[in-house]
Amino acid sequence: MIISVASGKGGTGKTTIAVNLALSLQNVQFLDCDVEEPNAHIFLKPKIYGQKKAVIPVPEIDQAKCNYCGKCREVCAYHAIAVVPASVEKKGSVLIFPHLCHGCGACSQLCPFGAIREVDKEIGIIETGEKDSMWFVHGRLNVGEAMSPPVIRQVKQYINSSKTVIIDAPPGTSCPVIAAVKGSDFCVLVTEPTPFGLNDLILAVEVLRKMAIPFGVVINRADIGDAKVEDYCEKENIPILMKIPFKKEIAVSYSEGIPIVEKDPSYRDKFNNLYLNINGLKNEANSHHKR
Ligand code: SF4
Ligand code: SF4
Repeated sequence: MIISVASGKGGTGKTTIAVNLALSLQNVQFLDCDVEEPNAHIFLKPKIYGQKKAVIPVPEIDQAKCNYCGKCREVCAYHAIAVVPASVEKKGSVLIFPHLCHGCGACSQLCPFGAIREVDKEIGIIETGEKDSMWFVHGRLNVGEAMSPPVIRQVKQYINSSKTVIIDAPPGTSCPVIAAVKGSDFCVLVTEPTPFGLNDLILAVEVLRKMAIPFGVVINRADIGDAKVEDYCEKENIPILMKIPFKKEIAVSYSEGIPIVEKDPSYRDKFNNLYLNINGLKNEANSHHKR
């Protein structure tokens, strides 16, 4: 089963939930897909065994074959190509803006003169390792790069479906989150009971409903805000999987980089229950789907 842990906004405790859930289960593979700011390794402290460059294919123009027809500029949905047509006075030119390129391959496929070849551009790094028996993979986007979805997809190439896969997704509701949660059997949305938490939860719910991924909510620091998140979940028929009250010991263990289940093993039962809850809801969603 693939479980992603996401959050409409940062700072809700998403990584805390993902890490502690993973540590409470057996036969787990942990994927940190928050590639702009991967921090699960701070808590899991895995031994890193492997490193691989994360790349995207960007176009390179063979000026000798190009006749500056402009087809590549037309097909590029990301405005990553500019073409200056040739004139009587001067040669034309094709300019590539690699930072805007999504590596979709459309330009090289559609160039009528075979003037474009693809070259790999390094945009980040993928590291693999182990924490006890847990398999660990994370990706890190290079500073100054903007294309995190390709790095996320390269992290996800390591998914081993014979394991319980826990994906720590990036915060928000845009393309990187979609790349991270796509293909999940279930998504845990972590939120907090504040107006901002509710606002971003509503956006995240819309995304997951469009993607048809079953989901439930974990309310972190459940006793510090108001009841609007719970009211919303009830109205929308969204299961609340777990409520975690604000506790000083959790905050202290977070600041020390120690997962709470390692400091206080009684939390393992709570996270085991979270898993059982998820499993039940996933099976329910599957049987509903088959009907
Ligand atoms: S489509 Fe090919 S030939 Fe046309 S401008 Fe682009 S690279 Fe040149
Ligand atoms: S690979 Fe795709 S995104 Fe990149 S320049 Fe070509 S068409 Fe644009």
